[in-house]
Amino acid sequence: MESRVLDVDGWQKVVHFEDETSGLKAIIAVHDATLGPGCGGCRIFPYASFEAGLEDVKNLSRGMTYKNALGGIPFGGGKAVIFADPKTDKTPEMLKAFGKAVDSLAGLYYTAEDSGVTEADLALVRSVTKYAAGMEDKGIGGNPSPFTARGVWRGMQAAARAKLGAESLEGLSVSILGVGAVGMELARLVHEEDGKLVVADVNPTAMKEAVERFGAETATPEEAIALDVDIFAPCALGGSINAGTIERLKAKIVAGAANNQLKTPDMDQALLNKGILYCPDYVINAAGVISVGLEILGKWTTDEMNRRIDKIGDTLKDIFDRSEAEGAPTGAVADRMAMEVITKARKAA
Ligand code: NAD
Repeated sequence: MESRVLDVDGWQKVVHFEDETSGLKAIIAVHDATLGPGCGGCRIFPYASFEAGLEDVKNLSRGMTYKNALGGIPFGGGKAVIFADPKTDKTPEMLKAFGKAVDSLAGLYYTAEDSGVTEADLALVRSVTKYAAGMEDKGIGGNPSPFTARGVWRGMQAAARAKLGAESLEGLSVSILGVGAVGMELARLVHEEDGKLVVADVNPTAMKEAVERFGAETATPEEAIALDVDIFAPCALGGSINAGTIERLKAKIVAGAANNQLKTPDMDQALLNKGILYCPDYVINAAGVISVGLEILGKWTTDEMNRRIDKIGDTLKDIFDRSEAEGAPTGAVADRMAMEVITKARKAA
């Protein structure tokens, strides 16, 4: 396997790996390792160019620096990308070669799942390196989606308190876009608290399930974003808050699980201008990485997970308070708070 360190300004270490035998072409990027080893998933995607993959791994690894810092786990930001189509190109040899690439960084980076990577893939990676999370054969945690849903639910409660003075979600209307693994569990939690649900999904079976189990009303995805509800929860794809949808958004709060909910950074300010309270996505959906972090630390228990997840609401409250005091959008405040955690750790070192 050939490896080449790329000189990327502002990143602690970026390495390009190529392995002719297995066909592996990958980049591992560690953005910042002040708080601990870089930790973040591996994405397998058929990038159109080397530059496109590099750009993605840079953005993703920097995002993990912020996410891990505010998630309260002692890990820095890292991420990996493999240039391949997960449906057609992925082989056990490629995954093992990736594991060796991870191993060659000697613990500077811990890998985990991301899109295109399954738990079974991660088991192959783990067969050649100890620097890989993934709980399939350890009997702990398993699927992170219920934990992510719990974190989003806690975040919703914190936002409802801050924005609406509500002590619970009882009687509040919540529109969930995407009732998949996270969205369906979130719907259950909202329903248990007597919230009023509207669900929208491209999958009619998922919608039917939410109607039958939780008495949810339904809407099309186009309608869901424009409903006059208390809370809009994007739990499908990223980018649902964009220049084309922001004008139609009527919810008082945006609190959902999807990554990269804001299509462009200016949407953060646009939400503030409209008086909509936005729960920064990487803060509210951090339960998955908190689970991975606890697993690596050997501290994973259900109680500890729930304790940490419940703190997501407290972190969001701090963000809301500062946003209000400074008149600054919540996303920008969250980024600043994450950097403060890192700067403090640097000074203490
Ligand atoms: P999932 O694939 O199980 O569910 C996504 C749902 O969205 C599906 O039901 C799908 O039919 C629906 N959907 C897809 N495109 C849609 C569209 N255009 N309009 C409406 N519905 C659409 O995924 P998930 O695990 O529930 O994750 C949901 C989101 O949360 C993703 O953005 C994911 O990256 C993010 N996230 C998930 C976790 C986790 O623990 N699973 C952790 C952090 C972030």
